[in-house]
Amino acid sequence: MGHIIAVANQKGGVGKTTTSINLAAALAAQGRPVLLVDIDPQGNATSGLGGAKLEGGSAYGALLGEELLADKVRATDFSNLYIIPSEVDLCGAEIELPQGADFLMRLRLALEPLREADGYDVVLVDCPPSTGILTLNAFVAADAVLVPLQCEYYALEGMTMIQGLVQKVRGAGNPELELLGILMTMFDGRTRLSQQVLEEVREHFGERVFDTTIPRTTRLAEAPSHGKPVREYAPHNSGAAAYDVLAVELVRRLGLDVETAPEDVVVHQPGAVDGSPLAQEGG
Ligand code: ADP
Ligand code: MG
Repeated sequence: MGHIIAVANQKGGVGKTTTSINLAAALAAQGRPVLLVDIDPQGNATSGLGGAKLEGGSAYGALLGEELLADKVRATDFSNLYIIPSEVDLCGAEIELPQGADFLMRLRLALEPLREADGYDVVLVDCPPSTGILTLNAFVAADAVLVPLQCEYYALEGMTMIQGLVQKVRGAGNPELELLGILMTMFDGRTRLSQQVLEEVREHFGERVFDTTIPRTTRLAEAPSHGKPVREYAPHNSGAAAYDVLAVELVRRLGLDVETAPEDVVVHQPGAVDGSPLAQEGG
């Protein structure tokens, strides 16, 4: 049975979409079927994976209970990587869903048959930058939440809200929901600020923080405009390596069988690629 992971942070620009795309691609490259569900009406994950927006192609109709979510799944250009694209109609969900009962359960209900039948190891849900109806639906549907935090001064402030939300959703129909991990993104080892923020977050959250940090690299920011994950756009980039390492760490945390991954996957520590953990570019 696949693990459903909400990639969430109410703050925009912290690396949710970058993580959804590149973590999904790294898992897929390790031979694991992955489904990326883009429920951010902005559709950055959709365009970042080269998907043209298609009217009526999003999860919207399935959230309203009018269509099957399985019919919305599309293959990408990358093997093992599937997507349910976003479309602007998802904006309407915030207004229309609350008109029905069980409106926070809609994504969970829609995903149920997929979870049973379709053999994805991991389903990643790329959430919008808010704590609105769509994000709440993702929390109710998920087994776990992955929170990207940008390495900046106010990083910790948003965590209180996310932890509160996890608690609420546990009490409201999804008692198993787990805060899987905090991922530090846009880490710049040359600055004291990044180091300090990382230390502080580790002090507060200990094991919850992924060992892997994602470096700030321009290749990660460029890749979406080419419709590719960074591992395709710039395979030797330190960001690509970091997401490969994260995928391994995630698999371990989820207790997925590491042995099933193909043997020829070479995983580099980000620092090993360019000779220094501080290296920013490359590839
Ligand atoms: P969110 O989905 O949380 O709003 P994004 O993943 O879209 O955040 O990232 C916000 C911006 O920062 C985007 O322009 C993205 O390309 C850039 N970005 C994200 N992660 C990195 C990184 N590690 N290095 C450099 N740029 C990054
Ligand atoms: Mg985003």
